[in-house]
Amino acid sequence: MTEHTLVKMTDMNYDKDRPKAENPLKIEDISLRDGHQSLFATRGRTEDMIPVAEKMDDIGFWAVEVWGGATFDTMHRFLGEDPWERLRTLKRYFKKTKFSMLLRGQNLVGYRNYADDVARLFVQKAVDNGMDIFRTFDALNDYRNFDAVVPVIKECGAHFQGCICYTLTEPRLGGKVYSLDYYLQKAKELEDMGADSICIKDMAGLIAPYDAYELVKALKESVKPLIHLHSHFTSGMSPLAHFKAVEAGVDIIDTCMTPYAYRTSHAALEPFVMSLLGTNRDTGFDIHALADINETLEKDVMPKYKHLLDDSKVSTIDINVLLHQTPGGMLSNLVNQLKEMDALDKIGEVYKQLPRVRKELGQIPLVTPTSQIVGTQTVNNVLFDTPDERYKMITAQVKDLCYGLYGKTTIPIDKEVQKKALKNYERGEEPITCRPAEVLKPELEKARKEIGSLAADDEDLIVYTLFPVTGKKYLMRKYGKEKMPASIQPITLEDVKKQDMMVEKAKKGELVDKSSLIEIPEKSENSRTFNVFVEGEYFEVGVDEVGGSPVITYAAPAAAPATAPAAPAPAAPAPGIAKPAAKPEAKPAPEPKEEPATSGSGTSVTAPMPGMVIKYGKNVGDSINEGETIVVIEAMKMENALPAPAGGVVKAINFSSGDSVAKGDVLAVIE
Ligand code: MN
Repeated sequence: MTEHTLVKMTDMNYDKDRPKAENPLKIEDISLRDGHQSLFATRGRTEDMIPVAEKMDDIGFWAVEVWGGATFDTMHRFLGEDPWERLRTLKRYFKKTKFSMLLRGQNLVGYRNYADDVARLFVQKAVDNGMDIFRTFDALNDYRNFDAVVPVIKECGAHFQGCICYTLTEPRLGGKVYSLDYYLQKAKELEDMGADSICIKDMAGLIAPYDAYELVKALKESVKPLIHLHSHFTSGMSPLAHFKAVEAGVDIIDTCMTPYAYRTSHAALEPFVMSLLGTNRDTGFDIHALADINETLEKDVMPKYKHLLDDSKVSTIDINVLLHQTPGGMLSNLVNQLKEMDALDKIGEVYKQLPRVRKELGQIPLVTPTSQIVGTQTVNNVLFDTPDERYKMITAQVKDLCYGLYGKTTIPIDKEVQKKALKNYERGEEPITCRPAEVLKPELEKARKEIGSLAADDEDLIVYTLFPVTGKKYLMRKYGKEKMPASIQPITLEDVKKQDMMVEKAKKGELVDKSSLIEIPEKSENSRTFNVFVEGEYFEVGVDEVGGSPVITYAAPAAAPATAPAAPAPAAPAPGIAKPAAKPEAKPAPEPKEEPATSGSGTSVTAPMPGMVIKYGKNVGDSINEGETIVVIEAMKMENALPAPAGGVVKAINFSSGDSVAKGDVLAVIE
């Protein structure tokens, strides 16, 4: 065979008009949801999906996952995007391919169980806006948490895909808790609920190839719905596991387009297309068309996101995940949070403690939100526990879990931990055993009254109901009642080019000549000067308001004062721009202490971690007992109720709901 013939034959085989396979493997592309959620902290913008949408629509995917999971939260919180609008926009480009979303059961796209009325309206509105397939999971595999959403999915004529969260207690499938029987039992439950397909949801990439084979084969023999395998690449096993699953007869697998693949994301599609070419499981996909999509993504999209890639490691796989079973998203969360708390050196201790905390909390699967719940509690234990007291700072979510608000844990929760968590718990000290949502009062009417005319329709109402603080903030921006901050504006390819040039110049040791890169505008008479202190360095920054939001016009490093770096108090701002609530003076973050920090004029309640203020439990002038909740702050998406370190009268409240706080900020003063 000449080289020429080989090339020609190969070209013919690539063609999508090649003979159809007997049982083509179905593919769901998940680049536009899980792909960027895993690699780029869910920061993918709709405008960057449009350039490939029509081309992807032509490939012949069984479905594309474009919504749900963390996208709803991230869009309104960080991207200034209306989540519903993304669905409607993409629907105009994907005319043939079905849309799939990740629905966290009764948690919807949030981190707690919402009431049934919210769950029903959410599903209804998702269908109205274009959703076809609901990949539904519950972090505890407690399918009572599907009872509210499944009937609505079915009534709307949508596809109900039930998930089994895949987790292990031993290195391989089996053992007392997560055995083959466990998974077959769960699949039967889903079939009985009317599942159109069943997805093995391997969020941490734990499924070993031969286990995938055994599991898929057993499932195909015992239940009727289509079997779908979702496995993250994290440990490096997923392409192998997928391949064995294909041999065992799996109907559908999840893959990503190459630029969105691997690392904590998923196997790339193209190797499967090539590997199965001409077999009875040939996908039938046109490899040239895939290459074309990848090129657009590489050239026009990825440069805008590469700064979000975790490039701290050379390795693309993380074998540690097999030991601590933490899903990819959670890994980066843990690292970021510890970094912010100046405690990155504790990461090893966190990994070590995770299995213990997990077991104490009922050996639950680790997936949003349980991965955050177990992860954050472990961080809290590592940072705040003392030799004679464990679980010193228990998050609100762990209390809810102990109460039964998330459902039934796989094994019972440690009695002592449960008792401690439920001491003075607002719903009661005795845990429930019923379906969790049964104890939740309807939420919609209350939310509707609170948000009033700021919610123009049910979609807005849901944004607010699911995320009262950030959702309201988003709606204020959406309807022009508040400016979209510059920080959430997208960056352009032009910006990226400029940054790359700067980096190049810096690498060469050339002094960066800013005038060649940006045009410096004239400094106006309204320009204000700020002193900024960054890690001991002192900068003088001029800020000039040009039409919209403040624009930094110049930043000049100034000679650092000879004294301690953080010592100088910021210069008094010019009149008219002082914030209504004066921020407490910057001061070095105190170490977590046994005894509350007291000053001459009372006891300060300081933020033990960076986060966002959710609400205060008291107002100025109220009296408070020691241990009562003074303020609730959100960190790592978990709410932490901070107890009053001492009793007395609330003298000062320094922040309001929605404010970001740094570690050590004085949140309130009690006297
Ligand atoms: Mn996933």
